[in-house]
Amino acid sequence: MDADFVQRLLVVYKVMLERHGYEMVLLEGYRSPERQDVLGLLPGTTNAKAWQSYHQYGLAADSAFLREGKLVITEKDPWALRGYELYGQVAEELGLTWGGRWKLLDFGHVELRTAGRGPSARSMP
Ligand SMILES: [Zn+2]
Repeated sequence: MDADFVQRLLVVYKVMLERHGYEMVLLEGYRSPERQDVLGLLPGTTNAKAWQSYHQYGLAADSAFLREGKLVITEKDPWALRGYELYGQVAEELGLTWGGRWKLLDFGHVELRTAGRGPSARSMP
């Protein structure tokens, strides 16, 4: 995982807990290109193929909430939906891009877009 990205993500978690009372956990950070291609075959998961996702560069993470020790992932839960909105706000304040603004909604996803790194920086053969 990219050190700058991890640092920002940890601040997001801290602010979410201390300011908003939401405990957050990391579901997936780095994702191999092989796994990315497998995920791409599942409906409603991702449009990105191998090397097209910031996950392959250690610059993206998927997170969820803990409520009374239990993992809460669904945005159908109003408490979790409110949490995702706050998470998006906090992440954007810290310069991260939030998946909750995408067409294929990805509420738990944030990524760090920086010049010279990530999918856009890769020259395709
Ligand atoms: Zn993701």
